[in-house]
Amino acid sequence: MVPTRIELARPVPPLTYLAPEGLPSGLRVKVKLRSGSAVGVVLGIDEAPPSVKLKAIEAVLDPFPLLPPRLRELLAFAGGYYGSGLPHLMALCLPSGVLADWETSLPEGGTLAQLRDAGQWAQLEALGAAWHRGELSLPGLFHRRNLRGAGITEVRRTEAPHPLKVTAAQGRALGLLEERGPLPEEDLLREASVSLSVLSTLERHGLVERVKRLDLLSQKREDIVHKQVILNEEQRRAAQAVDLEAFGTYLLYGVTGSGKTEVYLELAEKVLAAGRRVLWLVPEIGLTPRLLARLEGRFPGKVAVGHAGLNATEKQADVMRLLNDGAPIFVGVRNAVLAPLRNVGLILVDEEQEASYKSEEHPRIHARDLAIKRGQLENCPVVLGSATPSLESWHAAQMGRYRLLKLTQRPAGSTLPTVKVVDLRECYKAERKKVIFSPLLLKALGETLERGEQSMLLLNRRGFENFWMCRACGKPLDCPHCSISLTYHKGPHRLRCHLCGFETAPPEVCPACGVEHLRGVGEGTEQIEDQLQARFPTARILRLDRDTTQRRGALEAGLLAAENGQVDILVGTQMLAKGHTFPKLTLVGILNADLGLKVGDFRAAERTFHLLTQVAGRAGRAEWPGRVILQTYSPDHPAIVHAVAQNFEGFAEEELPYRQGMAYPPFAVLSLYRSEGDDPAKALQPLQELKAQFQAQPELRAELRILGPLESPIAKVKDRYRMQMILKAWNRGPLNQALRLAPLAPGGPVSLDRDPVNLGS
Ligand code: ADP
Ligand code: ZN
Repeated sequence: MVPTRIELARPVPPLTYLAPEGLPSGLRVKVKLRSGSAVGVVLGIDEAPPSVKLKAIEAVLDPFPLLPPRLRELLAFAGGYYGSGLPHLMALCLPSGVLADWETSLPEGGTLAQLRDAGQWAQLEALGAAWHRGELSLPGLFHRRNLRGAGITEVRRTEAPHPLKVTAAQGRALGLLEERGPLPEEDLLREASVSLSVLSTLERHGLVERVKRLDLLSQKREDIVHKQVILNEEQRRAAQAVDLEAFGTYLLYGVTGSGKTEVYLELAEKVLAAGRRVLWLVPEIGLTPRLLARLEGRFPGKVAVGHAGLNATEKQADVMRLLNDGAPIFVGVRNAVLAPLRNVGLILVDEEQEASYKSEEHPRIHARDLAIKRGQLENCPVVLGSATPSLESWHAAQMGRYRLLKLTQRPAGSTLPTVKVVDLRECYKAERKKVIFSPLLLKALGETLERGEQSMLLLNRRGFENFWMCRACGKPLDCPHCSISLTYHKGPHRLRCHLCGFETAPPEVCPACGVEHLRGVGEGTEQIEDQLQARFPTARILRLDRDTTQRRGALEAGLLAAENGQVDILVGTQMLAKGHTFPKLTLVGILNADLGLKVGDFRAAERTFHLLTQVAGRAGRAEWPGRVILQTYSPDHPAIVHAVAQNFEGFAEEELPYRQGMAYPPFAVLSLYRSEGDDPAKALQPLQELKAQFQAQPELRAELRILGPLESPIAKVKDRYRMQMILKAWNRGPLNQALRLAPLAPGGPVSLDRDPVNLGS
């Protein structure tokens, strides 16, 4: 046993334990902590162990590092880049329940456990390397005896040859699978009249495997799409431009419906044919049942799906399936960029501009950026797709770092909707009061209802009233724990804080001055729903926002109902922007297009542009021409002007020089350091120390611009004061250097957000 540094997925620095000599780094071990036991990851021998009595680890969990070598390289890179310990990153791709079976027998005899007991760690590591290379098969490595949970379990025959001698029951089960293909477990048990233990034995011998099917897919199995289209000239050229043999980043740019997905499918097919695998990233799985149906139709049985909605067992099943090379296509959200897929031949990032690719908690990875790094390591192409690319990617394409592939047509034939702008300032002048629904919008809503078509109204603000203020003293009602105002929710008749969840019954009188003059300001989706129902009493209205969709599956169910024509008017926040296609949606109303522009974030215009373009694009199909009514107080703002014209390139052309002038991304890069404390001074101090440390380095001082430290835009959350400091540089070098110079202690007061996308909080 030797002193070994072990890092935990907790906010503490690495600890030193005694562990068997020769454990490779990256191995998971179980260790005792004061509070019980924890899983840690081996970093290496501790050359200068603390001079206290060291505890021994409790157990070695992995026979060898389970993650494929390329992925381990990616994690190492991400750890250094985002300032995160390995265990935090590993937790994103290797669920703790995925454990190898030490009793797995080896081809040359013996078991993994015997090698472990003999301390043959080097030999185990070599076995692992051979297994990762596909030179060694370890069929029993992962068994599923503990797998329970939601969803249908499907049983499939593996590639392992049918053994000569099997029991009668085993023979019946194998025979049925060979004859009929994959079957739901229940059906197999019944039809072959075998017991579960027979299946488990077959599984242990690697003859069958059990796979959890996602409910989403199994429910919708009947509408799996088998359509195969013939690519048009543009699509064919785009697909051919992608060099599948080498790393390269491509930006596939084309409006919704221009056939990007068909290009992805074509590329995926080629990659699978070459025996490699496909990593397919999407911003939100729940909103893409169509895509899953198309994938399942084109590549039956080959697709695994990962997303936040999966429970622990489902996640485990997915990861084991990937480690067993059981699914050559993996579709998933953000963390899927770290999926343990071997031999990746293509990485797709659909809707690459989406902010959901960026994690807002530690480790704050950006899946699109890591996808590109992974492509480099795997030596395969990375295709970013979008109708409205991020300015980062667009700029990179303009500079020739990414190859731009453009789709300009809409093969299925629909046209872009017509957009009308309503100037709310004029409405105010005409009606002498604030207008929520302009006459034009009301007329259009009525017409649409009459024709039996659907409308969608966007207001990116939930609740009934945005905040309450006192007319006498002018003070808003703020959260007592956070520096934002409380939002009124009429349903439960509560004032709520959208940051910390604090809620209270609305007071009768102003807590500041005691006068009875409280009034609500700024309508939210809840109020819109109320007012609409009053104006259109017979309309079937569905509200979709974070308040109505908290239950798992609620959003999907709502969208499905709308898709099936059970809803006349959809009201909601930005949730409405993506996902399902509503065949009868012919009117989109944007109630206040300016809401997002007031946020103190240099990306406010870009985000508004994306949102408006996306929502507007939802109106109309081929047979049902769509129209969009956009209400705004600032019809001349570039984000609005170009969204109205559905003109991304125009927007980019206007926005990029501004970014350059202000030295913002994509021309500069940012690191956001943040600290919290019980009082402002305590929060400020560690940042001031960091700043001094950076400024003491002449080289850094020359290349870094340091903004702050100062109060964060939301200065207090849950009674903690928040300060921040932004580092700006022309390239990543100085920011990497700053992080190396002052690594952040896990659990320390300062956190780091590299390439932050959210500067408004
Ligand atoms: P995007 O991903 O850009 O939104 P899709 O690939 O989903 O576009 O294509 C939109 C619709 O057009 C889909 O129904 C798709 O099947 C159809 N489509 C795409 N390319 C073709 C083609 N070459 N011929 C016929 N239909 C096509
Ligand atoms: Zn609060």
